[in-house]
Amino acid sequence: MEKRILIIDDSEQTRKNLIEILKNARLFNVYLEAEDGIEAFRILSKEKVDIIISDVIMPRMDGFKFLSLIKKDRELKDIPVVMLTIRGEIIDKIRGLEIGADDYIIKPFNADELVAKVKVFLRIKALQDDLKSKNLELEKLSVIDHLTQLFNRRYFYDCLRKEFKRSERYNLKVSCMLIDIDFFKNINDTHGHLIGDLVLRELGMILVGSVREHDTVARYGGDEFAVILPQKNGEGSKVVANRITKTVESYQFAKNTELKEGIKITVSIGIVTYPEQKIANYEEMIKFADDALYSAKAKRNSICIYNDDLKKER
Ligand code: GH3
Ligand code: MG
Repeated sequence: MEKRILIIDDSEQTRKNLIEILKNARLFNVYLEAEDGIEAFRILSKEKVDIIISDVIMPRMDGFKFLSLIKKDRELKDIPVVMLTIRGEIIDKIRGLEIGADDYIIKPFNADELVAKVKVFLRIKALQDDLKSKNLELEKLSVIDHLTQLFNRRYFYDCLRKEFKRSERYNLKVSCMLIDIDFFKNINDTHGHLIGDLVLRELGMILVGSVREHDTVARYGGDEFAVILPQKNGEGSKVVANRITKTVESYQFAKNTELKEGIKITVSIGIVTYPEQKIANYEEMIKFADDALYSAKAKRNSICIYNDDLKKER
């Protein structure tokens, strides 16, 4: 991995000295230089760096101002900053540490000490980067369904809660769809669980392909899927639902496995739309979509939009 350092000092000579020492230690592949804090920010807006060494006293933007700004920046705040200070400037040191400097190097600096300190911060930075990427991975795992790679039920709840609130507040439409495979148990019983899994994955792909990019497709659980359609009313959602049932009907699932011809399946879909329906909260939205799905299941391979009659029926 390429290692990069940014050195900020108004003295060209100091910058050259630092670079020479670090080059001898072969610690970095890229050396970036800035004369003051302003130039440093300009560089940081374009370049990634692993560590910053900054002088304290500089024209235009001094080291403290630079440090306090960098620590407020979400993208930059984790880059270790080592300040360069003149021996005896105790007040400066305390002030810098309070703002968030990671360490100090006293000018005139000792080459071995400089290299040792920089090595420590490179190690810390590498550990931090590793932790960040693992956290991102975990975050992703916590909202993704392992089998289908769609969002999971937890993410679906979260997303519907937010979309419902947004629609309520700004007077927007939002629809929610629950989709369940008809007689899916038969597929597992006849062809085995692995083929069943493949059917679930393929249906997931059909659903993603049938909606717009800003619609959310999730696996609700088992053989049931959910779609959130922001800014779609009942009629608009029905068009999407029709597209889904037609595509599913004509698709040969698990084709080119041991089943050369593939399997035919159908799905039933329940839809609910806000504000066409009076709905109090996102939980009620799911309940109504489930009621509509239950009603669609009476016929199977069908679509039902929730309405007040349905409320009376149940
Ligand atoms: P219906 O038309 O009423 O929806 O009938 P169904 O057979 O689809 O309904 P049911 O809810 O009884 O069956 C769902 C089945 O889905 C039962 C369960 O074994 C199966 N299932 C749930 N999760 C998975 C999974 O991850 N992989 C596989 N292969 N099967 C699953
Ligand atoms: Mg089912």
